[in-house]
Amino acid sequence: MFDNAPLDEFMDHHRFLGLTYDDVSLVTQYADFLPADADLSTQLTTGIRLNIPFVSAAMDTVTEADMGIAMALAGGMGIVHKNLDPSAQRTEVKRVKYYLNGFLVKARTISPEMTIAEVEAMKREKGFRFSSFPVIDGNRRLLGVVTGSQFRYAASEDLTIGEIMRTDTVTARPGISMREAYDILLRHKISILPVVEEDGTFAGIYSFKDLRRIVKGKRGTECVDENYSLRVGAAVGPADRERVEILLESPVDVLVVDTAHGHTKGVIDMVKWIKTRWPDQQVVAGNIATGDAARALVEAGADGVKVGIGPGSICTTRVISGVGVPQFSAVYEVARALRGTGVPAIADGGIKQSGDVPKAIAAGACTVMMGGVLAGTDEGPGERVLIRGRQYVVYRGMGSLGAMQQRHGSADRYGQKDVDSPKLVPEGIEGVVPYTGPVAGILHQFCGGLRASLGYNGCRTIAALQAGARPVRITSSGKREAHPHDVQFIKDSPNYQTGENGD
Ligand code: 5GP
Repeated sequence: MFDNAPLDEFMDHHRFLGLTYDDVSLVTQYADFLPADADLSTQLTTGIRLNIPFVSAAMDTVTEADMGIAMALAGGMGIVHKNLDPSAQRTEVKRVKYYLNGFLVKARTISPEMTIAEVEAMKREKGFRFSSFPVIDGNRRLLGVVTGSQFRYAASEDLTIGEIMRTDTVTARPGISMREAYDILLRHKISILPVVEEDGTFAGIYSFKDLRRIVKGKRGTECVDENYSLRVGAAVGPADRERVEILLESPVDVLVVDTAHGHTKGVIDMVKWIKTRWPDQQVVAGNIATGDAARALVEAGADGVKVGIGPGSICTTRVISGVGVPQFSAVYEVARALRGTGVPAIADGGIKQSGDVPKAIAAGACTVMMGGVLAGTDEGPGERVLIRGRQYVVYRGMGSLGAMQQRHGSADRYGQKDVDSPKLVPEGIEGVVPYTGPVAGILHQFCGGLRASLGYNGCRTIAALQAGARPVRITSSGKREAHPHDVQFIKDSPNYQTGENGD
């Protein structure tokens, strides 16, 4: 996105050479800050900013609701795959969007006949640390609320709740947004806001403590929209108009028009169609690898473009078709064409270790999309399997036979929507990756690696690295030198395993 003359000179020098992450390394530069003070926030699209530059891939063994929640809680985002019935895909999106809603449907209620002593005993027994309760009658109608001060200043423990409760209760109707609920709680200085149906039936509460935690952010890490709901995206195909309509019945932060070849009429028409009907909807389109493609998608209205023809760990496109551009060069070509447009590039596929991420950013990407790195986590939907006593998780390409053959399969991503099953020509494989525990642990290592890199590069932000990185071309001996060499591994490291040098 930013001018970087030394990078241009370096890439012009390698004009007819396709470079990938392993072919380059970044040179250290003076730093006046510590890695911990680096800022990892970045644009996913023109209108969406992430707190960390990581997006989980729209693949059926990578992103459903659990992955979307984990990614957004960490500050990134997940893109829910489309090998699903459209309404099932919408349900996954909604599970992410409403995960942090702060609305307690099963809030603990009490009846007006209970005495203070009984409520105190119940609190002790259940270990409740809150003291505000909605008071309801046998028909679940809201009668009032009691809070800590009514308990504190009550003359006797034998008084009933009905005698001490407040009946001048501020309430809200269902459907109120979290932001509105938070503002009411603040304005009235109250600890709970009961939500009541039109006929007076109690529906749940917003609690000030919960909402404040969400609104202020635990550590400010969650990636949330203006209503403090987690952000999430959904993939659609170039001919999936009905899917788009179904998905957009409820909010989706970004639609990703996802194909193996994004510089096509189908993708361009789809982007135009979405942007004409829903001008405010953020749309990413891909995948591409050239400046011409980037310009065409931006002209169509894309708010972000996705780069990657064949770098994926499960991908065989380059082998079966002879087409594709090594990912460092592809990202550079696209990002260079995007300069001045404000539209960010997502580097999709081919990330193996955390060091690949600053290289993608150095080439001009604002974010990276990862499949294989995240597929082995607890939050991935892939099936767990035991192989010779070790745990693995199934990870397959969306262009693999299995993924294309299933109902609502991904054959359209590879231009084979109406092809009979036995005639499908796969562009991906089905495999397994090692089980790696929670997503948060993986992202911790990746953020740590990226922070270290920003420190070495003397660039405090993602934008500064895009503008200031100084890549050098390395040789096969440089790659060998970069990996651990001439030692026997005796311990696993959290961010490096034996065999990662690709030999
Ligand atoms: P990874 O992070 O595992 O290296 O790559 C993930 C990316 O590979 C996905 O986001 C997607 O763009 C791409 N991809 C997923 N499945 C396939 C496939 O079967 N064939 C090809 N060519 N690319 C795939």
